[in-house]
Amino acid sequence: MNTHRRQVELDRIATEIRCCRLCQLHETRTQAVPGAGPVDAPVVFVGEGPGAREDEQGFPFVGASGRFLDELLESIGLGRDDVFITNVVKCRPPGNRDPHVTEVKACTGYLDRQLELVRPGLVVTLGRFAMGYFLSDGQISQIHGQPRSVDNLTILPLYHPAAALYRGSLRGVVQEDFQRIPKLLESD
Ligand code: URA
Repeated sequence: MNTHRRQVELDRIATEIRCCRLCQLHETRTQAVPGAGPVDAPVVFVGEGPGAREDEQGFPFVGASGRFLDELLESIGLGRDDVFITNVVKCRPPGNRDPHVTEVKACTGYLDRQLELVRPGLVVTLGRFAMGYFLSDGQISQIHGQPRSVDNLTILPLYHPAAALYRGSLRGVVQEDFQRIPKLLESD
């Protein structure tokens, strides 16, 4: 499939997500947040789920942790237009609670299809929750910043930017782990 066709398909998935009713989160959302970025992005960032700001605006990582993510991207010479950013669940869990297993099950078909279309060499997971979607074992405190190969994908598990905002001591850790991304993209 050529790039144009893949982009059309990716946009079609976004349209599907915006009117999705596969789980109860559609009842409380303002808007679904499909993800953003070009279909030919070499790297996909996967967070947990939209927060209040994302739910209002319909775009991923537009709140405080998004500002930190922008800083991190800039530190390795990338911007939002260079990467695809999405979440494991596309609608905000009320009060930012953890998504339920049934909600994740209902939603991850979208993430799988997005990854099939973008075909990134590298997936960077942001936080414990997104890491758990790709890697069945390991604690984030032990394996953050260490790339793993899973089904032809390189997964780089990182702490969630919000964790670094809450725990200042993690800020430097996330900044350092981020510096591994350019090398991983080169070897892709
Ligand atoms: N946190 C996430 O995990 N995803 C977002 O889109 C925003 C905050």
